[in-house]
Amino acid sequence: GGFVKKQYVSSSSTLTNKTNTPPDSIITEHRKRPNGDGYTVHQYMRGKLLGKGGFAKVYQFTSLDTNKIYAAKIVPKANLVKNRARQKLQTEIKIHRTMKHVNVCEYKHFFEDKTNCYILLEICHNQSCNEMIKRRKSLTEEETRFFMLQIIDAVSFMHDSNVIHRDLKLGNLFLSKTMNIKVGDFGLAVRVDSSDEKRKTICGTPNYIAPEVINGNKEKREHSFEVDIWSMGVICFTMLVGKPPYESKDVKSTYRRILNNEYSFPKGKVSSDARAFISSMLQSDPSLRPSLTELRQHAFISHNQIPGSLPSSCTYSAPSWS
Ligand code: ADP
Repeated sequence: GGFVKKQYVSSSSTLTNKTNTPPDSIITEHRKRPNGDGYTVHQYMRGKLLGKGGFAKVYQFTSLDTNKIYAAKIVPKANLVKNRARQKLQTEIKIHRTMKHVNVCEYKHFFEDKTNCYILLEICHNQSCNEMIKRRKSLTEEETRFFMLQIIDAVSFMHDSNVIHRDLKLGNLFLSKTMNIKVGDFGLAVRVDSSDEKRKTICGTPNYIAPEVINGNKEKREHSFEVDIWSMGVICFTMLVGKPPYESKDVKSTYRRILNNEYSFPKGKVSSDARAFISSMLQSDPSLRPSLTELRQHAFISHNQIPGSLPSSCTYSAPSWS
C-alpha cells in the first residue's frame, strides 16, 4: 500500500512539516558576494529532533567549525507564503535578538536556504517546564520559588526593555542543563513605544489568557504589561497544583471561567503564602495586579528559603533536601 500521491493533496492552507533534509544531514549556510558568487559561511550537522511547534521543528545542530551545539528552529518557507506569517517571524526575530538575559533563551543566529529559515538558539537540555510538570504532577514550594524568582527576573528585564511577551506558559519556559529557566518563543511578543501604549489584538493560549484580553469589544480588549503578570499567576498555580486554574473541557468554558475568575486551591496542598502570591496575580482588574518589584518582595518569595540550584533529577522526581 502507501502509494498515495501526497503532493496533490497539499493546499496553501495546510502547513508543511517537511524540512526536506534527511536525518544527520549537513546544513550549509551560503552567502552571495555582491558579484553574485556564492560561498559557504558555516556548516552544521543536524542531530536529533528536540521538539515541534506550530510552524517549526526544532533540532539539535552542531557547528562543524566550532563544535558548539545549538537548538535550530527550522521553519519551512512553505509555511511563510502568507504575508502575515512572514511578518510574524520577522517580529519574533527582531524582538528576540535584543533579549539578552541569563533567564532568556539566547538568540544566536539566523540564516536561510531555498527551502527553510533557520533560527539558531541557545540549547536547553532539559526540555520545558511543561514536560517536567507532566512527569512530576506538581512541584514543591521550594522549586516553585526558585523558578518564579527567575521568571520574575526575566520578565522584569523584558518589561524594562518595553517588551510584553504575551505567551508566558510552562511550554515556553525551557530548562538549561543546570536547571535554570530560559524563557523562549517570542512569537507573540510586542515592543511598545512607550510603557503606556496599549495593544488591541487577541493572542495567547486559552488556559493562560488574562480576562481583559478576552473581554468585550475591541476598545475594552486593550491590554498591556499586566497580561504577563496574570500568566505568571497561572504558571505558579500550575506548578504547585499540577493543572492550570481555569482548565475546562473546552475553550469556551475556559474563557467563561477566566472571565468569572473561577478557580480554587485543592484542600491542604498550597501554603497560605503561596495562595496569597498567586491570588495577587490572578486579579481580574489589571491595575490591581502587583508590580514585579512587589512580587519579588512578596512573603512567598522573600520570607522563605530558596534553593541555590536544582539537580536535573528534578525533571522526574522531587528533590530531597539534605
Ligand atoms: P513554536 O513557536 O512553533 O511553537 P517553539 O519555540 O515553542 O515553537 O518550539 C517547539 C519545541 O521545540 C518546544 O516545545 C521545545 O520542545 C523545543 N525547543 C524549542 N526551543 C528549544 C531550545 N532552545 N532548546 C531545546 N529545545 C527547544
